[in-house]
Amino acid sequence: MLRFAPSPTGDMHIGNLRAAIFNFIIAKQKKEKFLIRIEDTDFTRNIEGKDKEILSLLNLFSLLWDDVVYQSHNFSKHQHFAELLIQKNLAFYCYCTKEFLEQKKQEAMEQKKPFRYQDEWATLQKDINPKPVIRLRGSAIPLFFEDRIKGKIQFDSNELDSFVILREDGIPTYNFACAIDDMLYDISFVVRGEDHVSNTPKQMLVQQYLGYDKKIEYAHLPIILGEDGKKMSKRDASSSVAYLLEEGFLPQAILNYLVSMGNKTPNEIFNLTEAIEWFDITNIAKSPVKFDLKRLRFINREHLKRLNESEFALLLETKDLSIGGLAKLFLEEASTLNEIRAKIKLIFAPKDIQKEYEGQVFAKQCKILFEALKALLQEKDCSKMEYADFKTEAMQKSGLKGKDFFKALRILLTGESHGLELESVFVYIRLHLKEILKIKE
Ligand code: GLU
Repeated sequence: MLRFAPSPTGDMHIGNLRAAIFNFIIAKQKKEKFLIRIEDTDFTRNIEGKDKEILSLLNLFSLLWDDVVYQSHNFSKHQHFAELLIQKNLAFYCYCTKEFLEQKKQEAMEQKKPFRYQDEWATLQKDINPKPVIRLRGSAIPLFFEDRIKGKIQFDSNELDSFVILREDGIPTYNFACAIDDMLYDISFVVRGEDHVSNTPKQMLVQQYLGYDKKIEYAHLPIILGEDGKKMSKRDASSSVAYLLEEGFLPQAILNYLVSMGNKTPNEIFNLTEAIEWFDITNIAKSPVKFDLKRLRFINREHLKRLNESEFALLLETKDLSIGGLAKLFLEEASTLNEIRAKIKLIFAPKDIQKEYEGQVFAKQCKILFEALKALLQEKDCSKMEYADFKTEAMQKSGLKGKDFFKALRILLTGESHGLELESVFVYIRLHLKEILKIKE
């Protein structure tokens, strides 16, 4: 079984989504189940509703799961295994107070030595601290694993001191809960961010101590850097999946982009089903990758190009196919749904001929053409008219011609002074001319 294990403590980051996609793809390739495990053990940081938000995003990206489990529902199992480890003398109660540990850390810092927990401290404060934590006994043997992206990763024996597995309130720590649950759900392969590399030996040790000998494979994904080359933080808006969706990037395009980051892919543009056919995690580059908005925009545009008029209309929340057609046309100038929305909005907004366009003379001409067009629409049904005929009639009625006429016509019909061939736009807007022809007084 494969799993995606989000913490419901914040917005879904593109790094999380990338891990979810890879776990999903590998599950499909191995014909194994895909589990969502909500890691809600840190009650102080959990945010109400984030679990549902994560699930609905996964659904939107078609990363459908076989099961969802909440880590907190397994606390009694975690506690049971902690007791078992105590019985085997592979875990022990530690009565150290926070102040004591703080002081030891301070001393280590003053001596310029790394802080290491010493097992003999465990009972020193037994009399004054009634609430012990449980620690797993650190390992004297070096641990290593073969990462599918990073290669062999080795940890020295002194890197792993005795760490807390159960807090004083009986709540398991992340490493312990994760190790136990990976065992309980028979996880075969773990893909996650490289910030978890140093957790892996701890989780392996828990499983080893419990005599679990299934070899879990690991792949740790290099971090995603911002365009400035620095680690992407929550302050980088584009690191949030919700933000990218709000900006009008399609889920299939975001997925395409995240799969192709630092990867060798047979095609530039693909969908999830195609990726399942050829995806190979060992092709992912070891080094960090920079988020490239330009590339995401290119990929988004390619996916938008694959949509037909009615799919476009649906995305723009209208049943009007002419709007879908217009949107498709605007792909020559736009790369996101929001940019397309903005163009369509301009068409239907009252045109500000006084303010926006230079010169009173031109504003006057616009007004003349506006009146002429209004009269034309009263007299004739223009909704099926060819552009050439509409143009000729408008010229005759307004008495304008040449550059001024065309510029004024463009502004009145599209709200912009430059843009696509008016003739191609006209095919889609002729049904709505009465609505479009409005000026700000
Ligand atoms: N809850 C952890 C996270 O969101 C999961 C790490 C893991 O996959 O083990 O980073």
